[in-house]
Amino acid sequence: MSGGRLEGKVALITGAASGIGRQTALRFGREAACVVVADIDDAAGRDTVAQLEGEGGRGIYVHADVTLDADCAAMVAAAESAFGALHVLFNNAGISHIDDDDAISTAEAVWDLTMAINLKGVFLGCKHGIPALRRAGGGSIINMASFVAILGAATPQLAYTASKGGVLAMSRELSTVHAREGIRVNALCPGPLHTEMLMKYLDTEAKQQRRLVHVPMGRFGEADEIASAALYLASDESSYVTGTSFTVDGGITAAYVTPEDR
Ligand code: NAD
Repeated sequence: MSGGRLEGKVALITGAASGIGRQTALRFGREAACVVVADIDDAAGRDTVAQLEGEGGRGIYVHADVTLDADCAAMVAAAESAFGALHVLFNNAGISHIDDDDAISTAEAVWDLTMAINLKGVFLGCKHGIPALRRAGGGSIINMASFVAILGAATPQLAYTASKGGVLAMSRELSTVHAREGIRVNALCPGPLHTEMLMKYLDTEAKQQRRLVHVPMGRFGEADEIASAALYLASDESSYVTGTSFTVDGGITAAYVTPEDR
């Protein structure tokens, strides 16, 4: 596809077999990027690529577990070998473990798994992605955090929250270190979304409405609205934007009293 906002760019997206990652892969494809879809769910990852190609885009699937150094090295190598360079890295893969709770209840194994995917996975993506962006003469890294990195909740997911806080701190430092190399690094902080990850907890209308009291816009976000933000951060339209914690959250982090509480 020509004339797109990402024309000439190669983008690698982790966790692109589902949810935000898949919507972003499709969106990037429509905007003329060559897209590397990385995930551990091979069938769904290949399906993302099939959808992308069905819309006239270009993409490949790579099996990559972001907790493994060798897999992260290989996914970046695959991008360069298939498309000649890497310009955009979206470290999106993440989990929200059903047994992630408060400090007393959360098992060490749940903490370790969450940190391995959500935080170490971002580190390993950057470890192998940054040299590739350097070889390309610069680029954009988008690291997936969450509004819970900014706001506390009495419905705890302690490991998840801590992992996303780590992503914010790491992204700020990376943006500073690599700013003079033309490598921009931003963290993306979605608010509560109407996706499987959150709806598995908010599985009744009453629970959903109770949560929406805190969202000034009064609705959950959609994965495609996060893809729009990722597109902006990936494109040259955000050429002076680095080191931000980019919130796309229906206003939740700005609010103390929402319209419903008046
Ligand atoms: P999702 O579960 O739909 O997709 C996550 C993808 O990551 C899946 O395809 C899964 O196979 C993949 N994945 C899991 N472990 C992996 C690993 N070790 N290596 C590679 N891939 C792996 O979730 P989503 O809602 O699209 O969330 C994507 C990101 O957005 C996550 O980092 C999540 O924390 C973040 N986020 C989501 C919400 C929300 O409300 N859904 C809000 C804020 C932030």
